Amino acid sequence: MSKEFTPSTAMAIVAHPDDIEFGCAGTIAKWTKRGSRVTYVVVTSGNIGTHDPSFTSVSLAEQREREQRAAAAICGVHDVEFLGYHDGEVMPTLELRKDLVRLIRRYKPEVVFSMDPTAFLSSSDYINHPDHRAVAVATVDAIAPVASMPLMYPELGAPHAVHEVWIQWTEKPDTWVDISETIDLKMDALRQHKSQVSEETVQGLRRWALDAGKGLVPAEAYRVITLVSRDQKDQPIVDTTAEQELSQREKASESTAKG
Ligand SMILES: [Zn+2]
Repeated sequence: MSKEFTPSTAMAIVAHPDDIEFGCAGTIAKWTKRGSRVTYVVVTSGNIGTHDPSFTSVSLAEQREREQRAAAAICGVHDVEFLGYHDGEVMPTLELRKDLVRLIRRYKPEVVFSMDPTAFLSSSDYINHPDHRAVAVATVDAIAPVASMPLMYPELGAPHAVHEVWIQWTEKPDTWVDISETIDLKMDALRQHKSQVSEETVQGLRRWALDAGKGLVPAEAYRVITLVSRDQKDQPIVDTTAEQELSQREKASESTAKG
């Protein structure tokens, strides 16, 4: 039921600390065990996510960043980037898109895990959080095509073409990953978000994973968008055509300057 595929590099881009642990953490733990290098990008630090009056938004953000780093480490992830946007106020702005392009070009992920840009009224009892929607839109807009276009933000580094976008929390999954070997790590990662989740919620993860795996195995379900096919996987991840174009243009402008 699963594609046994392990990319060399991956990135998960989400709105809040704990979005990855409720989503793709089992797949990520499986991939890092097989040698993938994974980066987490967390757009807000979840600084309004409490009813406990002993927190300020600053102290809550600090705690949630610590919780997210601990959760990441359990899944073999040591690069965690917080963008510091204000929780509850994220919009899919050009500023956010540019921040994501910067990180995509820096870490050059082959696969990006994204939230679902089409999820709005996901079920009859849930309206998708506006931060989730905003981050999802900014993510897919950053990937296609901006990050791979050499004339967009040349100051942010060499263009990079992401190969696949894996949409988590999707209603239209087409790919399932068996997380039998990492469901315990996923639960332990979620357990690190002490300011957010109860042990009952942590235990719920196993049940939800089994539901996703149709009762057969614990699984995570995704909709996978393929931008560069795996047949071309031996090609370098960096978009060399775009790089060549850029260096040719640089040479041309140098010679113009000299002339
Ligand atoms: Zn969230």
